[in-house]
Amino acid sequence: MTATARPSPGAPQAWRNWARNQTAFPAGVEHPADVADIARTVEQAAAAGRTVKVAGSGHSFTSAAVTDGTLLHLDRLDRLLEADAETGVVTVQAGMPLHVLNRTLAPAGLAMSNLGDIDRQTVAGAISTGTHGTGARLGGLATQVRGLQIVLGDGSVVQCSAAERPDLFSAARVGLGALGVLTAVTLQCEPSFVLHAREEAMAIDAVLGNFDEMAERNEHFEFFWFPHTDSAMVKQNNRLAPGETPQPLGPVRSWVEEELLANTVFGAVCQLGLRRPALIPRINRRSVRLLGARTYTAPSHEVFSSPRRVRFVEMEYAVPRAAVHEAFGAIRTVIERERLSVSFPVEVRVAQGDDIALSTASGRDTAYLAVHMYRGEKDYERFFRAVERELTALEGRPHWGKLHYRNVADLRPAYPQFGAFLAARDQADPARVFRNDYLDRVLGR
Ligand SMILES: Cc1cc2nc3c(=O)[nH]c(=O)nc-3n(C[C@H](O)[C@H](O)[C@H](O)COP(=O)(O)OP(=O)(O)OC[C@H]3O[C@@H](n4cnc5c(N)ncnc54)[C@H](O)[C@@H]3O)c2cc1C
Repeated sequence: MTATARPSPGAPQAWRNWARNQTAFPAGVEHPADVADIARTVEQAAAAGRTVKVAGSGHSFTSAAVTDGTLLHLDRLDRLLEADAETGVVTVQAGMPLHVLNRTLAPAGLAMSNLGDIDRQTVAGAISTGTHGTGARLGGLATQVRGLQIVLGDGSVVQCSAAERPDLFSAARVGLGALGVLTAVTLQCEPSFVLHAREEAMAIDAVLGNFDEMAERNEHFEFFWFPHTDSAMVKQNNRLAPGETPQPLGPVRSWVEEELLANTVFGAVCQLGLRRPALIPRINRRSVRLLGARTYTAPSHEVFSSPRRVRFVEMEYAVPRAAVHEAFGAIRTVIERERLSVSFPVEVRVAQGDDIALSTASGRDTAYLAVHMYRGEKDYERFFRAVERELTALEGRPHWGKLHYRNVADLRPAYPQFGAFLAARDQADPARVFRNDYLDRVLGR
């Protein structure tokens, strides 16, 4: 689904997201220097009946950051405010990108416990949509948040945590940008650690047959199934045990595997598939024959995240973990039944349940299933809608930052704390200064 807010006369240049499927023509664009600047902008917008939206680094596929009001970029709020190496508690300004956070934590001997596949998002943007990595005993990034500073809809600046304004805190950790402008985020980090990464091709039936065992045994477990084949690439990442010898990847091998094969060659293969979709099943079958195995060690954040230069669109569903087999089978059936040619792998991950109102893992241990299509492939909406129908029936919840077609009426029953979130929104932004079309759809006006 693409969204384009109408251009207003004399408006500044268009804003586009990473996937290039969302465009906004904001009435104004600001790069505030500090919290006081943000508070002033919000107060003035509230008084004039205008709207305000923050864009992070534009890595959401949904129109979550699209606005025709004032668009704020927090690129000047990207500093470390406090770090306590003893307790691991770190406060950063909300516009700091995750890759800068990782670089900032390392000299203090600290690291995030878990991260997603990339590190380009801002800290605030990542938590706001429920960004997660994988690990049966680990929650999404928002579960590491211990405190927030927020500019509310009347321009007031408040702090919240489990002890201070707990209702606002519960809602704002995965707040969809609906409650205010996050200006600082306090995170519980941990001593930095090295991961031992093991990546290998396996038969998909073996992966599914051992799913629970592998999810439980590994700190971080995920697999990528290649549509039209019986093979998956399995990733099992665990902390390097004390005394174990590190096995870093050399810079040349790392460039060949992560840049050349995963981006340049993969991009060329996707282009070929775009021009000749009928070839995709054959290309995928050839590709999986070339999948090798590798093991290496690296600082945790280097293992979690990789560069993604091949642009695509994505939908991801969170289902109760026990439903993973049914959900995976449903995606397979959709691809066959709809005669779709899908070049991108289906990614499957796990997370521990949490207590955050709109976290996609709220109240239940979760399996995540993500479907992707190369940018420009025409069939993505037919594919995503068909998968959505199947996974909604399994009590699935869509990732807030990835494409989906759900609305408030059918999302409300999917979240036990949906009502509590709406009540927190009414308190934080009664005039709906932070509304946009996406929020109207998923939360109501
Ligand atoms: C290549 C790629 C890989 C990805 N990998 C993963 C993954 O592994 N796991 C996963 O879960 N997701 C993943 N995502 C999704 C991504 O993590 C989320 O969409 C995330 O929200 C993007 O962060 P951002 O900084 O770009 O925020 P944006 O997309 O710009 O904004 C997201 C939302 O946050 C709001 N927001 C941003 N800053 C603030 C602020 N300061 N205050 C209040 N609201 C704010 C915006 O208004 C918007 O509603 C991936 C996306 C891409 C493109």
